[in-house]
Amino acid sequence: MTVRLDTTTEKTVLLDVDGTLCDNVPRLLDYIDDECGVALTRDAITEWSFSVPGTDLDIGDLIRRALDERPEWFLLGMEPIAGAAEAARWLDHQGHTVRIATHRPPESHPLTAQWLDEHEIPHDGIIQEVPQNKGRLDGDLLIDDYHINVGNALAAGKAAGLFVQPYSDPTRCSEAVVAETWSKMLSEFGRQQPAPRELTG
Ligand SMILES: [Mg+2]
Repeated sequence: MTVRLDTTTEKTVLLDVDGTLCDNVPRLLDYIDDECGVALTRDAITEWSFSVPGTDLDIGDLIRRALDERPEWFLLGMEPIAGAAEAARWLDHQGHTVRIATHRPPESHPLTAQWLDEHEIPHDGIIQEVPQNKGRLDGDLLIDDYHINVGNALAAGKAAGLFVQPYSDPTRCSEAVVAETWSKMLSEFGRQQPAPRELTG
């Protein structure tokens, strides 16, 4: 059985950032190329514990280093995932509270807020301290690209959507709505008609 969200009443929706609203991988690949001289493709990153060839660093180490050394370049240079702004607007227009739930370090939240504003992604605030288990957050629905977060939300009785990326494992959260695009995700959560732009694009 899939856990669905009754979108006819006001809910608190938790949205992840990286891999869900934000296409963080291209900037990360640029950073790895600059720092390590290793040219990787998007498909190479199938898990976040992936070790960069020729180095003793994994992806997590490099993300932490990029956030520390070049935070503006790293975060503000990322592009939104197609449909992300429209999705947040739709959720907002449905009367839901949209809260940003990211495991980015809290000191980077002002840049994330700036990025969300620059890309016109409406929200009702960034949660300052997000526990490792996102199921512990207050909220009714979590949409996230990481199956562990989605599984934790489901285990806590929330509805959940897995935004599929190459490293996502839908088999780990079989009760979630699983979607590769925001268009599909929103229709699964009750949006009746795609926006005109999507019909033509
Ligand atoms: Mg993510």
